Amino acid sequence: MANEPTTGAKVGLSILGSSGSIGRSALDIVRSHPDRFRIRGLACGKNLDQALLQAREFRPELLSVDESLYSHVREELSGTGIHVQAGVEGACAVAALPDAEVLLSAIVGEAGLAPTWEGIRNGRTVALANKETLVVGGQTVIDRIKSKGARLVPVDSEHSAIYQAMRGHSWTGVRRIILTASGGPFFGKTRADLDQVSRDQALNHPTWKMGPKITIDSATLLNKGLELIEARWLFDIPSSQIDVVVHRQSIIHSMVEFEDASVLAQMGVPDMKGPIAYAISGEERLPIGVPFLDLVKTGTLTFFPPDHETFPAIRLAARSIARTGQGPLYLNMANEVAVQAFLEGRISFTGIFDIWERVMAEAPEAVPESLDEIRRAVSRATALAHDAVAKTGSMGSVPVCS
Ligand code: MG
Repeated sequence: MANEPTTGAKVGLSILGSSGSIGRSALDIVRSHPDRFRIRGLACGKNLDQALLQAREFRPELLSVDESLYSHVREELSGTGIHVQAGVEGACAVAALPDAEVLLSAIVGEAGLAPTWEGIRNGRTVALANKETLVVGGQTVIDRIKSKGARLVPVDSEHSAIYQAMRGHSWTGVRRIILTASGGPFFGKTRADLDQVSRDQALNHPTWKMGPKITIDSATLLNKGLELIEARWLFDIPSSQIDVVVHRQSIIHSMVEFEDASVLAQMGVPDMKGPIAYAISGEERLPIGVPFLDLVKTGTLTFFPPDHETFPAIRLAARSIARTGQGPLYLNMANEVAVQAFLEGRISFTGIFDIWERVMAEAPEAVPESLDEIRRAVSRATALAHDAVAKTGSMGSVPVCS
């Protein structure tokens, strides 16, 4: 394939979301393999220090920053030859840069969709960390990828595990895929316990160090629900063939079960650098400084069924695919608004669950046919979610601190 990097040659890489946790891990990998990667473009958010440090170290052709930083960053970098742009347009320009075979899409949330779409439009290999591209974009994005000759390589650890396990195997022999879930910080709690959860408790994840939005998603288990939707599109597999098992140690990153009862699992010490390096390197095995797995030291791997009574997220996500065209999009936008409201102390932890249900019930069946139609659907779902939060928020007090 034309956009597949040649082994041994430098990979031209652009990163959307370079100041976030995935973006920074990717730059660590690039830093330790300067002979393998050349940074072409970086799009970061509102972190001024990171924007300047990254620009000076990696010398991209183009740096995109939040609009609020634009004039300052432009002045600071004048004379360096680095072009500076801002906002969604800037991120889209980074995604469209020529000579970048690989685009790492790691902007969190629906905001990542437009620049990722731009990368797909330009036929890039997209190393996809942004779940929402598939959750919100669904069929529309898949059709676009096929028509533009683009490729998606998953960065989410579960999907990377399945992608790796499927190398050399045909999907016709697959019985089901099994996504592993850490269970989040509230594993074993009851619904009544969850009503009392504070923001600080929810932000304290046992295994993975991630940004606040994804940490809350992991505490509600909607993260796993979104991953189920992501897997459905990425691997073209019905939700009835996707199972979830709680695996507290996060050593097995996911599994594929075949018709002959054989199961392939991908394992490792939990560190996002693994899936990131695999995706951005053109699926090579680079040394990346992650500790090697010592199974004797690990001792025991445990597995539990998910508690769907306490955590409705996974079943809700499965329902969102089965029932309506825009179900996943509505669920995702409801969640983005609800998580923000929870982080700001406006609704309770279980209030998030109510917002999902209420907004998803309004999802239309028509599948959007363009990025503009997706955007209009996103606006409608977001407005409904804000209404739902306003109603919920006025209904009771919320514990903010533990
Ligand atoms: Mg994941």
